[in-house]
Amino acid sequence: MLSNRELFYSFLAQTSEAPLALEIEHAEGIWLTGADGKKYLDLIAGTSVSNTGHRHPEVLKAIRTQLDRYLHLEVYGECIEAPQVKLAAKLASILPPSLSNTYLVNSGSEAVEGALKLAKRFTGRGEIVAFHNAYHGSTQGSLSVMGNDDLKVPFYPLLPGIKHITFNRADELEVITGNTAGVIIEPVQGEAGVISVTPEYVKALRNRCNETGALLIFDEVQTGFGRTGNMFAFEKYGIVPDILVLAKGLGGGMPIGAFISSMKIMQTLSRNPALGHITTFGGHPVCCAAALANLEVIINEKLAEQVEAKSALFRKMLAGHPAVKDYRSSGLMIAVELHSEKAAEETVQQCIKAGLITDWFLFNACSIRIAPPLIITENEIIYACNLLIRILDDIKQ
Ligand code: PLP
Repeated sequence: MLSNRELFYSFLAQTSEAPLALEIEHAEGIWLTGADGKKYLDLIAGTSVSNTGHRHPEVLKAIRTQLDRYLHLEVYGECIEAPQVKLAAKLASILPPSLSNTYLVNSGSEAVEGALKLAKRFTGRGEIVAFHNAYHGSTQGSLSVMGNDDLKVPFYPLLPGIKHITFNRADELEVITGNTAGVIIEPVQGEAGVISVTPEYVKALRNRCNETGALLIFDEVQTGFGRTGNMFAFEKYGIVPDILVLAKGLGGGMPIGAFISSMKIMQTLSRNPALGHITTFGGHPVCCAAALANLEVIINEKLAEQVEAKSALFRKMLAGHPAVKDYRSSGLMIAVELHSEKAAEETVQQCIKAGLITDWFLFNACSIRIAPPLIITENEIIYACNLLIRILDDIKQ
């Protein structure tokens, strides 16, 4: 009989020649346990997904309860499913009134697709403005707004009418015109290596969108659900986007995404043509039940409120290390930039050997990613940082 490892390499499609290939038997809180019994502290939360930790008991309870009621019933929007409507209402209760109408999908890329379609449909315009170094997903629409040619160009032709501008450069905002349907931005560029938008720029961008009638789309797939210290990163800037895109941390480990806007904007998807966006599984009841429980945990345990202090502890322990060239963070979304790609690669490998899961960024090969579950405690941060410091002490630059 083939081992799971052999099955992995023989039958599972791979998109990398060097997958991490850790065989995990169990996950709980911030810990993963390998098939060989080795324990790993998860410093990346499954890439900003498991904000409440792996298998949070409240999330598991909600999933089990829903399993005993029903699974899939009908395509999206035909049946009244309590988990969907309760989740949408809960999201509306923590968002500004103009973000009160939620369309549920299965992933971040799908939520981006929906948001781009909605902006085009509402404005009747064809152009989208996006940012250099942006990551919005891997489907053809979300790939079209990606700001990195290496991953995009081999798949041309993609969507027409996409323009890219530079993050935080107010002089390029003139590219947004009366032909622009929407502008899509990550408030903290994740895959670029944790680059935060400045408050002045967000205000200027919001103003430019108001002047031109372009819809402002915030992709908070990575920044959402407390990751940056606010429930949503847009709250830091005193502005409200026209469309909010969510996924990853929404589901407490289950696959779900959402794009959220006002009832007025969203209603354009139900007329001329009706069924302007369709999904079979979007808003799956088990995922919605998990997402609602997950959201309640984030709120009740005040996880977002604790993020700044935890972030400050990481910074205090790591930023001054001689192997660290630059240190960027927004809450618990952290990039530790080393002096070379080789140093970053070696550090990630050594971390795994030491039982610490970190990662690279897609567009910033010199930096390592730290984005732990928000439930990580101060003692666990100290433990993880001490391990990392010992590895950095020995890393060749
Ligand atoms: N948007 C951002 C900012 C992301 O980081 C990602 C995934 O990493 C996506 C969209 C795409 O999400 P998914 O992988 O769920 O399709």
